[in-house]
Amino acid sequence: MPSLIDNHGRPINYVRLAITDRCNLRCTYCMPEQGIDFGPRSTLLQYEEMLRLMRILADMGINKVRITGGEPFVRRDVMDLFQGLAAIDGITKIALTTNGTLTQTHLPALWDLGVRQINLSLDTLDRSRFFQITRRDEFDTVWATFMAMLEQQFEVKINVVLLQGQNDMDIIPFVKLTQDLPVSVRFIEEMPFNGGDAAQGKLYWDWKRIESVIQSEFPQINKIPDPPYSTALNYSIPDFAGSVGIIPAYSRTFCGTCNRLRVTPQGLLKTCLYDQGVFNIRDLMRAGATDAEIQTALLEAIGSRAKDGYEAENRRLSGFPARESMTTIGG
Ligand code: SAM
Ligand code: SF4
Repeated sequence: MPSLIDNHGRPINYVRLAITDRCNLRCTYCMPEQGIDFGPRSTLLQYEEMLRLMRILADMGINKVRITGGEPFVRRDVMDLFQGLAAIDGITKIALTTNGTLTQTHLPALWDLGVRQINLSLDTLDRSRFFQITRRDEFDTVWATFMAMLEQQFEVKINVVLLQGQNDMDIIPFVKLTQDLPVSVRFIEEMPFNGGDAAQGKLYWDWKRIESVIQSEFPQINKIPDPPYSTALNYSIPDFAGSVGIIPAYSRTFCGTCNRLRVTPQGLLKTCLYDQGVFNIRDLMRAGATDAEIQTALLEAIGSRAKDGYEAENRRLSGFPARESMTTIGG
């Protein structure tokens, strides 16, 4: 298998495919109440186009794909896509990021297709705070889905975006959850991609503040080595079944080992979370490009990646903060 290396010497082996920008929740940090300007469905990459792209990328050395969105399970027949991905030679890991509202019935089939890693977004352990943050009353469903995931032995990571005054009181309860449950809880710095004016003010819950709150309650916590390409700072607490992570998504301390590409639901390739997209794969495919031509375009993009999220931000012609929503970026 060839390995893909970018212009800064970083191996690239991972693609995050956002398969829809639609979602049945309205998390305040992600989308306005009324949603965003969802384009017509014809603008979305079709499953066949995604599978073609993944075959091309697998030939180039990509071995891991994460399905995200929007909420993957609001897109029709999404299990067909998982089936197609599982059949691609070279793709050895298929992961999922989901809000857990429509996921539970699909868990057995996902397991059978070899999916093992699931990131579940759950920002609070409290039902009314869940409603305030997501604008929907789905806490009980998501909790039941979480339990079902653990029962089925998935490797579950809970993603918690920290919002001042809205769920900071959940930090310690979330850490305590890892005492008995084999789950990794990851606290994420809020990023300015909420589909609105993106003016979130100064980031209050940066990784250092999160770390110090956890350390003051759990002085026995240990910083453990981060696995290769991890975006999280990883910690363990002696005798706890699970683990804790902090993702400096806004501070961007992880760029030096970034191994991933992102594809938006409309087929835009992003080589950095903070760029505005490099080229549109859908347009190239629909204009009749051959696999070799698509490979050439991908190689060119990988050969001119920004060194880090700050350089990508500075290269944006459309300015920053952006009016983008994480629902099109995929997290
Ligand atoms: N709907 C699925 C979910 O919520 O898990 C997948 C898509 S969601 C956009 C992917 C991840 O991005 C979630 O974990 C979510 O919490 C995170 N996210 C969304 N907006 C964010 C923001 N402004 N800052 C940091 N993380 C964000
Ligand atoms: Fe939907 Fe996920 Fe965005 Fe929440 S974070 S609105 S669940 S896409």
